[in-house]
Amino acid sequence: MKICRFTVNNQIKTGVIDNEKVFSYENNQKLSDSYNLHEIKLLPPVEPSKIVCVGRNYAEHAAELGNAVPTEPLLFLKAPSALITDGEDILLPEQSNRVEHEGELALVIGRDCKNLADSVNALEYVFGYTILNDVTARDLQRADVQFTRAKSFDTFCPVASFIETDLDTTDIKLTTKVNGEIKQTGRTSQMVFNVDFLIRYISRQMSLKAGDVIATGTPSGVSQLKNGDVCEVEIEGIGKLSNPVKRAN
Ligand code: MG
Repeated sequence: MKICRFTVNNQIKTGVIDNEKVFSYENNQKLSDSYNLHEIKLLPPVEPSKIVCVGRNYAEHAAELGNAVPTEPLLFLKAPSALITDGEDILLPEQSNRVEHEGELALVIGRDCKNLADSVNALEYVFGYTILNDVTARDLQRADVQFTRAKSFDTFCPVASFIETDLDTTDIKLTTKVNGEIKQTGRTSQMVFNVDFLIRYISRQMSLKAGDVIATGTPSGVSQLKNGDVCEVEIEGIGKLSNPVKRAN
């Protein structure tokens, strides 16, 4: 199922996208009332308490930025206020001269958890999967010791407008295009640390709450975004995330 959040008649609702329609979804049940996609406004599909990101989780991407592959996951946070969804503008802040895309598979936590043991199947704590663009001010990331500023400008976290609840992420393809030209390609099987491992690992560093988002890292091929570009991230089995790029005023 493709679960979304949307506004209709000034109300925020949860829905299921099915065949150009959105059906209301309440208490884990798809209801019969529906709306046409063009009648409603889709919102980012989650309101996370935090967005946990994994850096350098594809060896070729670590190498292209001159970094070694870490021996344990490299974690950082992105501000939830950076969230936008499909079709909304990525705004280039005046503080940076080099903003880059990072197309990533993201997962949404379905049940609160902490300190998950090795014996636990962490995938049981996943609500579903979505597409995330970990937009980064590369010059500020290099200049600052912490990643916080470089990763958290408003609009620096586009996510697809829905969460796919049924997906095997063992070996699926990710592609990022700018103005239709392929920049990044990779397969999730190339991740240094897989989804199951990452959830257990992160749950031992901080409690994970239902709705929290984990971005699992980006393949090689990151490149600069400029005013007027359109950046599109596609993940096999989920769909596409497309965002125009504009200068912030
Ligand atoms: Mg990233």
